Amino acid sequence: MPTVLIIDDSALLRQVTREAVEKGGLFDHFLAASDGFSGFRSLVSEKPDLVICDLNMPGAGGRTFLELRKQHARLLRIPVIVLTSDADEGHKADLLEAGASDYVVRPFHPRELVARVRLHLRLKQVQEELAVANERLLALSRTDPLTGLLNRRALDEAMTVEVSRSQRYGAPLSIALLDVDHFKRVNDTHGHTVGDEVLRAVARIVEQGLRKTDLAARYGGEEIVIVMPHTDIQGGAEVAERFRSAIAQAEHRAGAHAFSVTASFGVAGMMGSTGPRTADELVAMADTALYRAKREGRDRVVVAGISRLDSQRPTRRPPTKPLAA
Ligand code: GH3
Ligand code: MG
Ligand code: MG
Repeated sequence: MPTVLIIDDSALLRQVTREAVEKGGLFDHFLAASDGFSGFRSLVSEKPDLVICDLNMPGAGGRTFLELRKQHARLLRIPVIVLTSDADEGHKADLLEAGASDYVVRPFHPRELVARVRLHLRLKQVQEELAVANERLLALSRTDPLTGLLNRRALDEAMTVEVSRSQRYGAPLSIALLDVDHFKRVNDTHGHTVGDEVLRAVARIVEQGLRKTDLAARYGGEEIVIVMPHTDIQGGAEVAERFRSAIAQAEHRAGAHAFSVTASFGVAGMMGSTGPRTADELVAMADTALYRAKREGRDRVVVAGISRLDSQRPTRRPPTKPLAA
């Protein structure tokens, strides 16, 4: 339901303006203000779809209103049409530079005002649609289509940011590299479609167990990276262990047949200037640890640089805590 804010010190002229735009049938809500200050307050609190503002008002006029509006970028998206009786071309250019979307010279023909209002409403709508489409495209360009996790590109960006943050502030950062065990067998036994389903299920387990500050990305075929800012390597290993246990407990179906899969984890971490220096080095360390987890029998968490996280097979551990919220 579009709303227009009409700012004019003269009640009579406000009525003239209102009647003109009412004829156009473009709005069903009308707000009024009598100077630039009260108009600005109304702009902030009501967020109308468009403003029609008189230029010359006692006290705060149209220019003051435009100045105030500049303070907030989101307010600049609301078009402002200035009503002026000033025929000076130079002044009109000033108005546009001050942030007015357009101006209409008084006395105006109602149809001219309506046509300009319609144009600026349409422009605003197109801009909003573009912004939504851009956001969607951006999200798509960062998402892995199969699992809905972040993709490699988004991961690289996030890792660069987190690694430099860790180096600058000395905060711990850890990552876990997850690889589904014998996944080729799942495909070979149950088919690629079931394999895809298993990957989605594993991704969901990770996503649902993720803490707000952590993020997960599909690193490759059946590999997922979990990035854990402000988490030391021990904390990272605990998170990985919870995921390992949850994945091992989940059941998958291929027709009437139920089965489960396991995953191996390599965990690596850094803190300020200790440990790996780049995102690539950090991932390489996690990858080496993952390789060891595979070699040592799979379904386990191995921490980089630590000879053995736990001498027992993780599956024989007592039940672990439920997934972190
Ligand atoms: P390991 O325990 O050593 O990791 O054994 P593995 O069989 O999981 O390892 P390998 O790397 O040999 O095989 C990974 C398999 O994952 C092979 C590949 O076809 C499959 N894969 C990769 N991406 C996808 C995918 O998107 N969907 C499905 N269904 N399978 C995939
Ligand atoms: Mg694998
Ligand atoms: Mg693999």
